[in-house]
Amino acid sequence: MIRKPEILEPTERAVTHAALESSLLALAEAQSTLAAVLENTNNGIFFVAPDLTILYVNRRMGELFGIDLRGTIGRRKTDVINERIMCQMEHPEEFLERLRYLYRHTEETAVDEVVVARPTRRVLERYSAPVYKDDGALQGRIEVYSDVTEVRELQRNKDEFLSLVSHELRTPVTSIKGYAQLLRRRARQHPVSDQTAVAYETIDRQATRMQELIDSLLDLSRLESGRLHLQVSELDFSDVATRTAEMVQMTTDDHAITLSVPAGPLWMVGDERRLEQVMTNLLTNAVRYSPNGGPITVALSKSDGTITALITDRGMGIAPDAIDHIFERFYRAQGVAESSGLGIGLYLTKRIVERHEGSITVDSRIGGGSTFIVTLPVQPSNVSAEDEMVRTP
Ligand code: ADP
Repeated sequence: MIRKPEILEPTERAVTHAALESSLLALAEAQSTLAAVLENTNNGIFFVAPDLTILYVNRRMGELFGIDLRGTIGRRKTDVINERIMCQMEHPEEFLERLRYLYRHTEETAVDEVVVARPTRRVLERYSAPVYKDDGALQGRIEVYSDVTEVRELQRNKDEFLSLVSHELRTPVTSIKGYAQLLRRRARQHPVSDQTAVAYETIDRQATRMQELIDSLLDLSRLESGRLHLQVSELDFSDVATRTAEMVQMTTDDHAITLSVPAGPLWMVGDERRLEQVMTNLLTNAVRYSPNGGPITVALSKSDGTITALITDRGMGIAPDAIDHIFERFYRAQGVAESSGLGIGLYLTKRIVERHEGSITVDSRIGGGSTFIVTLPVQPSNVSAEDEMVRTP
């Protein structure tokens, strides 16, 4: 049966029409609000369909690239890049290659840095991520660019300042330490009062501590600017661990450091001085964070081309919420503020271990002591004893 079309009364028709009109108005208003927000944000925004059609680009995007991007909505992103964007970039091929990768790996979210060379040099941070519809289908990829030129400049100034200050401090501290040692040697030949002997010893100890802090700051600035190069050779890790354990033992009478090492050498390829630094950092921490003294053990083993070092103390331990942060720069757990330190040691330690393609983790319980676990491949895949490891971290 064919239904007769419903005939609306004039009043009903007017109501429906009015409702439709008000919905359209509300929709237009919402769209204009959204456009106002997107057009007035400080970030450049691209929204690109899976077939690379530009679905949206805002005004700021054009400003950041120093070009006019009006009229590009609906065009293919690759054409717009080739015609207008490539010539603006400092490393155009790299820029294109990375975008190709991201558009091929649709599920990937990435934060990268890109540099625009013209009309003025600008460093942009790009956040790029897939956008999905409610039903889970891929709607496109969003790219959000923010100008980080000034932030990077400030970071560079800070690194330069850090490096300069550390260098300048090093000379006077070295000289204080040298004279303190000279005075101590003289005091052994021509005895001085107990008070003077304690003063000489304190100056020497504090100058050594200051030297260590300055060295950490220098290493940090080298690491941040990619200048921490490794001097690689074949070395016996067992020897490195034994030497550092003996050295740290000399600094304390309250702790007993014992070593458990397999018979024979543990050959590996790495930077001997830096690995010594790793072991020294971990052992001095074991001493420093065991204020009541106690045993400290260093246990070495080797299997499947990997050396493992366990450094265990029975000190104050680390709270669960702090464990996730102790390898971060400048992090110091609560309750250790009274002991001196910059919170750089473990950050450097981790970076050095990672440069050797190894890993470092910690197992700890508050009040129950800590075990730091370092693993190192005996032959890092990217390094041979003849090479200098000069890759930036
Ligand atoms: P610093 O010792 O100068 O504070 P580190 O980077 O060496 O810096 O260590 C970061 C923090 O990790 C320390 O402040 C301390 O809270 C914690 N920590 C490191 N080693 C130990 C340890 N063996 N036992 C307990 N806490 C530790």
